[in-house]
Amino acid sequence: MKIQFISYAAGVQLWMLSSMAAAATFVCSDDIDASAKHSEAANILWSQTLTYLQGVREILTENNGCNDGPLAVVETNDGGGNVARQCVTKYQDVQKAIKHLDSVLKEPDAARKCFDTQKHYDAFPLYSANDDIKAKSTVAAWLDRPTLVAFYQQKSGELKDAGLSLANDFWAILQQSKMPYYLKTDISVRQLPDLWAAVGWLPFYADSEKAHNVRFRGGYAYAEVMGPWGLLRIKTIDGEPVGAEIGMTVQLSDTFYPYHYHHPQEFYMPLTSASCGDEHLFFVAQEDSALFERHSRQDGFYIDADPSADLPAWFIPQSPNGNNFTYFERNAIHAFNVGKGCSNQPSGLVSVWGRTTARDNEQSTRLCEVVEKRSVARNAEPHSRYICNPTKWEY
Ligand code: ZN
Repeated sequence: MKIQFISYAAGVQLWMLSSMAAAATFVCSDDIDASAKHSEAANILWSQTLTYLQGVREILTENNGCNDGPLAVVETNDGGGNVARQCVTKYQDVQKAIKHLDSVLKEPDAARKCFDTQKHYDAFPLYSANDDIKAKSTVAAWLDRPTLVAFYQQKSGELKDAGLSLANDFWAILQQSKMPYYLKTDISVRQLPDLWAAVGWLPFYADSEKAHNVRFRGGYAYAEVMGPWGLLRIKTIDGEPVGAEIGMTVQLSDTFYPYHYHHPQEFYMPLTSASCGDEHLFFVAQEDSALFERHSRQDGFYIDADPSADLPAWFIPQSPNGNNFTYFERNAIHAFNVGKGCSNQPSGLVSVWGRTTARDNEQSTRLCEVVEKRSVARNAEPHSRYICNPTKWEY
């Protein structure tokens, strides 16, 4: 009897050990508010969050030019006039982000303890675009975030006009999104209206004069679904820091997001097409690119593109046709030039956005500085003269 009992107990212990090995350990950020954990609105938002993450996993892993993922544009001009591309899954930071997405999707119930609707979030204000959106989404109505309309009504001049254009036309712009044909999971506003309506949006450049272009400053917003400041805030999985930061961006038509860079690597998948065909342009090059001008006695480098000779070769069109997934390596210099558009409808560039090392070193986005004004109307043009001075990170 005694021997039988011992072997039974050992068997139970073994079973417990094996199930423990299968389960990942999720450690949440310290500021998770789980008070509204299982309200109906929270359930809808959580379910759409998971679908979004599933879709991003698919973007990173579905065969599209490479066997196990997309062939990403990593430089729009490699210094010799060619577009440089890489299989994105060759990057270790991307591999780790995919692994952590897998852990969440495999054990959503365990991961959910790190989910917070951000109804009560102290770090900074998060917005919904306007009150009409709250009428369209019960989740946005329940969260009742302050609106970008109210935010921009406090501003003045061109900033107010641009901000109100974005905020009032927000839904109409999002509705123009279309998933690339080769992906199965639709994560656009069409399938996930509550997530796009209710995730916390940030008018990131509204108060940043360094971004120069006032229409851009009012006409840009981003939101974070997963990451250190998003809805799902996981600090570590099995002891490993979770660097994945995943969300979306919207940039209004007729705006230029000036040249900028940052420490974490970044990817974009555009969801909207340009109404004229090719007016959604972007640029990316490595910090040591031959396109930039260097002087031996200075740390930084200059960007000084000639409008007719350089710009057509530096910027390439972006659209969700399956070939324009982009990946920016650490400190890569990038810029987005979203043209006016050819339709009378409000339009803009809507993108799935992500970073992969959101818990390493310095996270802030740095703009290259305009050193010479060539235009009075918009003083950070694609052809203005800029100086960039990225930190030399130890790799
Ligand atoms: Zn960036």
